[in-house]
Amino acid sequence: MKAEILSVGTELLLGTILDTNANYIAQQLPPLGIDLYYISAIGDNRQRLADAFRRGLERSDLVIVTGGLGPTEDDLTREAISDVFGEPLEVRPELEAQLREFFARRRGRPMPERNVKQATTIRSGTYLPNPIGTAPGWWVERDGGARTIVAMPGVPHEMRKMWEEQVVPRLARKVGAGAIVSRTLKLIGIGESHAEEALGELVRSTNPTLATYAKSDGIHLRITAKAETAEAATRLIDAFEPAVQERVEPWFYGYEADSLPAVVGGLLRRHGLSLAVAESATGGRLADLITEAAGASDYFLGGSVVYSREAKARLGVPSGVLDAHGTIALETTRALASAARAYFRADAAIATTGVAGPGAAGEIPEGTLYVAVDVEGALHEQATRYSTTRTEFKRRGALDGLYLLWRELRSR
Ligand code: AMP
Ligand code: MG
Repeated sequence: MKAEILSVGTELLLGTILDTNANYIAQQLPPLGIDLYYISAIGDNRQRLADAFRRGLERSDLVIVTGGLGPTEDDLTREAISDVFGEPLEVRPELEAQLREFFARRRGRPMPERNVKQATTIRSGTYLPNPIGTAPGWWVERDGGARTIVAMPGVPHEMRKMWEEQVVPRLARKVGAGAIVSRTLKLIGIGESHAEEALGELVRSTNPTLATYAKSDGIHLRITAKAETAEAATRLIDAFEPAVQERVEPWFYGYEADSLPAVVGGLLRRHGLSLAVAESATGGRLADLITEAAGASDYFLGGSVVYSREAKARLGVPSGVLDAHGTIALETTRALASAARAYFRADAAIATTGVAGPGAAGEIPEGTLYVAVDVEGALHEQATRYSTTRTEFKRRGALDGLYLLWRELRSR
């Protein structure tokens, strides 16, 4: 099956937002056995949208469109499809009732009348309910099902939910794939190419398939299996996963729903350890990350941002250490972790120092990052160099701090 993606919205053409929807869908198609030939971005213009649909229907079996399903004047995806098929938009009473109820329940106010257009389809189409937003999707088939248009909302999390829950099962039936099941394994402390290398020939497996993705919380490995039933697909994954685990065990921290802050929090809780931080390089991002886990107050005592030499000294870094090594050094970072542990009376502490840039700090090159952890007096540290933006440097520094603690705790 040949597919193409249309991303609708003038903001895409102005460069205001990135087309993450097309990127997501593109990653989803190979396991379905669907070939993607084109991705296009089209502004909020009825004529150009209609042209894009006509061209799509000529050259592709499946046209997947996101965006332009909102209630406002410039949301024209429905209108364009209706133009192409010469069928008027008709209000679906049950959909209108659902929308009115959504407004009453979720927004506590009556539905603005212009939202009625979100309750329409063309007669030959059906709609895909949107339980978390006001824009329902559309499913339209032509030529006895040989051509299909799937329209989904532009808001990424609404689109993904609709895609996973409603579009994938329909497409799987269409391509005769039976059921498709995925499982995601998350890795930390390893880069994408290193992960691929570690996985060796497993990345060439065809069912299940194994794909790596660099994400903000590490590397994700997605195992996807196709079978007659979901149970059979899950069995294929169960049989395949141990081989994957065996190769990435040192970096594996959890599955889809597991976040690194929550996993580290779970380990701290299990070992009955409290945590504090002293941050120079990360400027507060580490405390921010730690407190993303619900219930962090069970183990996280607090932290300080100690940017200056004086602040580090005040927290308890001996002046001898600062004199001998300076404010940015592995030794200083270790001393900072111990100082934070003592100051907050915590069992464990994480410290960061470094040079976010731009530019070097004296002899120390831009991007240098030192992270140290002190867990009940046992010290561990890591020195890295990143060449990236300040924001990304701080984000990675926070992740590295958590990673170092995780590595120490999991071996206990
Ligand atoms: P729309 O459905 O066109 O009203 O889009 C609603 C919002 O979703 C837009 O304002 C964007 O913030 C976001 N959005 C729309 N299309 C995309 C896309 N292709 N990738 C990422 N975000 C998008
Ligand atoms: Mg739009």
